[in-house]
Amino acid sequence: MKLVLLGPPGVGKGTQAQLLSAWLKVPVISTGDMLRAAVAAGTELGQAAQWHMNSGQLVPDQMMVDLVKARIEAQDCQVGFILDGFPRTVQQAIALSELGVGVECVLALKLSDAVIVRRLSGRWVHPASGRVYHTMHHPPQRDLLDDVTGEPLVQREDDCAETVQARLEVYHQQTEPLLSYYSNATEGPLCHQVSAQGDAEEVHAQLKALLHAQS
Ligand code: ADP
Repeated sequence: MKLVLLGPPGVGKGTQAQLLSAWLKVPVISTGDMLRAAVAAGTELGQAAQWHMNSGQLVPDQMMVDLVKARIEAQDCQVGFILDGFPRTVQQAIALSELGVGVECVLALKLSDAVIVRRLSGRWVHPASGRVYHTMHHPPQRDLLDDVTGEPLVQREDDCAETVQARLEVYHQQTEPLLSYYSNATEGPLCHQVSAQGDAEEVHAQLKALLHAQS
């Protein structure tokens, strides 16, 4: 199963990717997490990506394509994978298909900009695992500590109000066109749009039902 999760920042792609990964037993490829790891490790890619990320802009397409290409060639991706955060431009989607990756299914999560802004302002993450919490909707058991490891949670630098606005604009201009790109593609993937309004378990149940009906 080769699956793409699409949707604006903060819609819950990362959470849904983890839930689907546990259910389908295929790895998640999260380009955002990969880039943040590269920034933390101070690699050449991390240094080049950091400015774009902190200002809410996209990292150049070719860098992203090289990063994803190397990842999907790994052994654990041979059973399939869930792409979270890639492709994010039509150019990236074209590059993916030129790599010979036939995406089978696109799940597009939808949420209004106003709700996204509220969600992102309360988001805290455990960087090592990618686990995501929210001060109101999904608080950790102990204040600002990860439930599993007890390690401190952090807020992402690009979750500040100004940068969230920039990320939403970039999403509408550069990523949203992917919806029609995929739904109009001949022999393209099956595309489903799902409201991300409910809590994570509700959204997951909807995604599972769609994938079930498809198989
Ligand atoms: P979100 O979807 O919540 O905005 P991500 O964690 O997916 O955040 O990505 C964070 C940042 O990493 C993006 O704002 C962008 O700068 C960069 N990034 C991630 N994936 C891509 C991609 N496919 N193409 C270009 N930039 C990317």
